[in-house]
Amino acid sequence: MSFEELGLSAPVLQAVTEKGYTEPTPIQEKAIPIVLMGRDILGCAQTGTGKTASFVLPMIDILAEGRAKARMPRSLILEPTRELAAQVAENFEIYGKYNKLNMALLIGGVSFPDQERALEKGADVLIATPGRLLDHFERGGILLNDVKILVIDEADRMLDMGFIPDVERIVATLPKLRQTLFFSATMPPEIKRLADRFLSNPKEVTVSRPASANTNVVQGLVIVQDDQKRDALLALIKSQEVKNAIVFCNRKRDVATLHTVLKKHGLNAGALHGDMSQPARTETLEKFKAGDIQILVASDVAARGLDVQDMSHVFNYDVPFSPEDYVHRIGRTGRAGKTGHSFTLATPNEGDLIDAIQKLINTTIPRVEVPGLDTAILEASDGRRRGRGGRRGGRGAAAPERGERSERGGRGPRRESSEPREPRAPRAEQPAEAAPAEAVAAPAIESHREPRPAREPREPRPEREHREPRPDRAPRERRPEQRAEQRAEPRSERRPERRHERDDGHSPVGLGDHVPAFLARR
Ligand code: AMP
Repeated sequence: MSFEELGLSAPVLQAVTEKGYTEPTPIQEKAIPIVLMGRDILGCAQTGTGKTASFVLPMIDILAEGRAKARMPRSLILEPTRELAAQVAENFEIYGKYNKLNMALLIGGVSFPDQERALEKGADVLIATPGRLLDHFERGGILLNDVKILVIDEADRMLDMGFIPDVERIVATLPKLRQTLFFSATMPPEIKRLADRFLSNPKEVTVSRPASANTNVVQGLVIVQDDQKRDALLALIKSQEVKNAIVFCNRKRDVATLHTVLKKHGLNAGALHGDMSQPARTETLEKFKAGDIQILVASDVAARGLDVQDMSHVFNYDVPFSPEDYVHRIGRTGRAGKTGHSFTLATPNEGDLIDAIQKLINTTIPRVEVPGLDTAILEASDGRRRGRGGRRGGRGAAAPERGERSERGGRGPRRESSEPREPRAPRAEQPAEAAPAEAVAAPAIESHREPRPAREPREPRPEREHREPRPDRAPRERRPEQRAEQRAEPRSERRPERRHERDDGHSPVGLGDHVPAFLARR
């Protein structure tokens, strides 16, 4: 099918052609005609499928007629992170270059006056993260009565980050008569319930494959002792033809440390994590996208949606805690038909995490040896070694740099830390999509153990936008029924931003001095 057959206007088609797309991706093929008809959509698709254009292109055409009034946007796109919001805004600029639509981008970490000016001009398209949108709303800077199209993107990510109550508040202020496009990579029951409430007779659109059938990520798994991870990473970077790469760490602190290490080794590296100021995040991302930074050390804030052309490598310096994060991380490479490479560094006691990933992607990640380093083997959860081989080759065991020899003989303790982690992708209640890669199948190396009982669910550690304190209103106690609701909410739906704000030295909004002890915990 061609883009011409989808019913898009000539100006939009022109922009698409100039972007270099020859044919629509499956989600575009399915969703665009439905959006143009004015119907609601329940889309099950992840980033990398061409999902953004599937709503941006028809929205441009729908909004081409009419003009926005000051502070009354005509459409609203909610995104969970600033990066994703900025990326959607870029998409509007690219595809809407032959249309005269006004756009406003409301994200945290950017000054209010500029955003207020954009709203004042009248926004045909408003792209926002929920926290910052509510800040503007509560300051009286925006009215949402004129929103005709609502897009809720990455709904499962919103859930994981604790944004759902904010999203519900926002949706409650919108006109009932509107078109709603709701996208989520996974559809756990709470997301489905939300969709049922927000959507009216939606058409369901599901795509299980990423944008291009040629997408190909060649995966590798390196098992090394904890104190050899840095050497392994450096050796891999040197031995591979790395054009540009993201190195993912599980913790913000490790991002900063590893960034310093890579720079010390003469590599052109940058860092990206949720504790950085927004200008610094934006600047780093722009430099990385422009090729001025070759290696980006990042937390999972960069795992989803980040669209960097032709990224050659992804390195998982840490095995992600959630297998879905693995899929998102390696999906940053091998995009748009290009071959990408991913290497994951695992320590011997991370067999469970590797098992979970391999189960999800339904393939065994081929083991890779790093010349000059000992190859370790994964341990079973009872401490026994399993799988093939033992230590081989290499130059012998290096002296431990960090941590002490564990009781099991491993070097260094299991990497458990009380340091807050970056947000994780949601735990899929139904299996997430297979790897966005045609993973190179490897012969079965390990004998898989019986599946272990599910772990205790971890409380998500969301990275939230800082809500600005409202300047004009007195702090308000919650109504008793709100408190009851709050208690009844599942943990994942509570609003953890309060904690985050405190971490950063801000006062909790709306509680005045009466901060309950459990919230004041540090
Ligand atoms: P998204 O899922 O929206 O993040 O898009 C993933 C990537 O696919 C982005 O780099 C888009 O530029 C690209 N893309 C979107 N639509 C198409 C298309 N029809 N043909 C080729 N690439 C596309």
